Amino acid sequence: MANVSSEETVNYIIARGLMIPVAGVATNQLNDTFDEGRDAKRVHRALDIIAPRGTPVLAADGGRILRISASTLGGNTIYAIDPLGRVVYYYAHLDAYQPGLAQGATIARGDTLGFVGTTGNAPKDTPHLHFQVMRMPADGKYWDGDPINPYPLFLLSHAAASP
Ligand SMILES: [Zn+2]
Repeated sequence: MANVSSEETVNYIIARGLMIPVAGVATNQLNDTFDEGRDAKRVHRALDIIAPRGTPVLAADGGRILRISASTLGGNTIYAIDPLGRVVYYYAHLDAYQPGLAQGATIARGDTLGFVGTTGNAPKDTPHLHFQVMRMPADGKYWDGDPINPYPLFLLSHAAASP
């Protein structure tokens, strides 16, 4: 896992197929917010997917729940990992978690993980899912991997899934 390149990881994700992790949101409703600045020092490195409060947040990929926790910036958050331990998925600003969701649980693509909200530093009038994809780093610090832009991966996964 230590020397897997970004390109290999991207190809791996495309081969698995990445699902848009908010119920009812189509590819053409997504905005590429990956490279947006957030303040003087930070770049977003994630996608914000706008949806009404309470819309189900779905697992973009199958795998396992790594961590369920709350933080000042992210609010109610979930970290998940694919079955081979190569890709970390981060879901933030959840209004609530799916009841019964537990750390270590196995999940399938499309499972409901929680609900769109504004917890953490999200604007209270703009419920959205903050969704980040990261390469699992060799040192195991899953919260600190290199971010990968999921936006083009949704488009490619969608194309791959079409007849
Ligand atoms: Zn965001």
